[in-house]
Amino acid sequence: MGTERDHPRPLRPFLALGPRRTLRPRRTLRSRVVAVRARVALGRHAVVAVVLSAALLPSDSRAIAQSPPPGGETPGAAMEITFVDVGQGDAVIIQGPDGAAMMVDAGGASPLQALARLGVDSLALLVATHPHRDHIGGMDAVLTARPVARYLDSGVAPESADHERLQATLDRLGGIERAAAVDTTLRVGALTVEVLAPDDPRVGSVGLVIRHGAFSVFLPGDAEEEELTTWLDRGAVPDVTLLKASHHGSEDGFTHAFVDAAAPELVVISVGAVDTRGLPRPEALTAYRQHAVQLRRTDLDGHITVRGFPDGRYEVLTGPTLDDRELRTDRAATPGGNRGSAGPGEGALDSAVIDTVGPVSIDTVGPVSIDIVVDAPGTRPGDLNGDYATLTNRSNEILDLSGWRLCDLTTRCFRFPPGTSLRPGRDVVVYTGYGSPDGVSFFMNNDRRVWNENGDEATLYDEAGRTVVRHVY
Ligand SMILES: [Zn+2]
Repeated sequence: MGTERDHPRPLRPFLALGPRRTLRPRRTLRSRVVAVRARVALGRHAVVAVVLSAALLPSDSRAIAQSPPPGGETPGAAMEITFVDVGQGDAVIIQGPDGAAMMVDAGGASPLQALARLGVDSLALLVATHPHRDHIGGMDAVLTARPVARYLDSGVAPESADHERLQATLDRLGGIERAAAVDTTLRVGALTVEVLAPDDPRVGSVGLVIRHGAFSVFLPGDAEEEELTTWLDRGAVPDVTLLKASHHGSEDGFTHAFVDAAAPELVVISVGAVDTRGLPRPEALTAYRQHAVQLRRTDLDGHITVRGFPDGRYEVLTGPTLDDRELRTDRAATPGGNRGSAGPGEGALDSAVIDTVGPVSIDTVGPVSIDIVVDAPGTRPGDLNGDYATLTNRSNEILDLSGWRLCDLTTRCFRFPPGTSLRPGRDVVVYTGYGSPDGVSFFMNNDRRVWNENGDEATLYDEAGRTVVRHVY
């Protein structure tokens, strides 16, 4: 292996250090929940309106309004995992319901502001999945500014200046338990952390599966096809709630078999808006959309926080700053079963919060799903292309969209040009502002907003004027 550590010490379970985190009250939710989408059963011919259970919204509102009582873990309290928007790179902060915190990778530059904003004073575990700059560039800052109980990496010897500096910082600080990853299971407070050793430490990443009851997360670092396949062959890829897309949504960061086994409901891609060498790749996006109900991206959504409850439910909050995160979307009620009925706590309802929860989403069932985004984070002021509709072909057939129209409630419409087709699993995106269409991106060439941020209807009509699908949000 050529490392300075010939015999990685096996890890043993350990308990987290660090004081309980103080939760700040959330900002009041605004009604700008624009991407609430019901998960609908496809393949039915009847037009079925699927309405989110009214009971789901108050219970989730209660979760937002709730502050955990001091002195211990609340039964049913959430863990939080935050994908810090560090541009091109990964920095993931995980906070258990009891305040224990861990961090996986640290971005290319200092993520200290994020740790401060999230109230993380110490880390029970810091993991460097692999020593590339976009993952370890900010580690010196973290190690210097926060007490870290245990540090875990892939076990490869330093070959870059960044990695040498990191090793020197670890040597200088002392007192940190250091180990190369082996297949093992750790406890970080209330969280269970399954460690997957890299397939080949020279090129591979440490993988992690983090569990909080029925809510689970897979963090594969930048693992590529071969490593993902090895993990799969080892039986180490469980069905999880949340998958961080490997390697920033690269085409070598997934295999269909891997995504199929992980079967995520939510995929998060940590990727920069610039200097990404074409990431995320369209084929990766397509694969994730085929498997997951939701796809979130740091380049479009900003900071992404997922609050995972032990009964398996989750909430997604995003925002351009960590102080500004808002509930963006929610776990949809699934036809025939509503796992969201169990509230995360019995705290008092806050009617002010409930009143401002976004409108209920109603989707008709059709071969196409529609998702509306209004004012995507990171959009320049006045750029109407921050508003867009994504149409996804959910059928198994190529759809000819020639002459089809996408209209809002006030029947402002966009007509697809002749020759527009949409392959199974693929998207077309209709932007509100100006631009040149390329067969995937289309532009309404509007000077004013089309989609109302407080709720609207997006209806797709075929060439004969028949309704194909309607999305009400
Ligand atoms: Zn990377």
